[in-house]
Amino acid sequence: MDREPWSPRTADVHSRYRDAERRHALCPYCAVGCSLAVYTRDGEVVGIEGDENSPVSRGRLCPKGANTLQLLRNPHRIDRVLYRAPYAGAWEERSLEWVVDRIARLVKEARDADLVEYDESGLKVNHLKSIASLGGSACDNEENYLIKKLFTGGLGVLSVENQARL
Ligand code: SF4
Repeated sequence: MDREPWSPRTADVHSRYRDAERRHALCPYCAVGCSLAVYTRDGEVVGIEGDENSPVSRGRLCPKGANTLQLLRNPHRIDRVLYRAPYAGAWEERSLEWVVDRIARLVKEARDADLVEYDESGLKVNHLKSIASLGGSACDNEENYLIKKLFTGGLGVLSVENQARL
């Protein structure tokens, strides 16, 4: 009789990603750019781990990146547009179109009112101090390039910052 040095239970142990598809992604949180291995089964994400093939992180993730799955599964994550009017105590749900229109209108009003074309010596400066932009580390290089181009070159905004060092 053949006898193997493992139990049926041990023989049945397998990776929780068995039969899952593996896809490549980048951690969305900061400019280090660690690679992620995203596992899906039947179209659902079942796990996200560090990608051992990454030349940046070699499979390691910091605690924030290691919890990327929470972006999808956190019940507290707000996935609709909320608006709180000035001096109001409650949030109201609005459409994305409404919010984009409002932001565009306020930006235009502020620029029309506050753009400084020439300084006191007559030097052309075209700068705007009443608007500032603060980016988050979830913005990628291309998004930050467009933000910088729009806000400084396009609108004349002086204060453009980002949480991450880009
Ligand atoms: S947040 Fe952490 S895991 Fe994500 S890219 Fe930055 S260092 Fe890497």
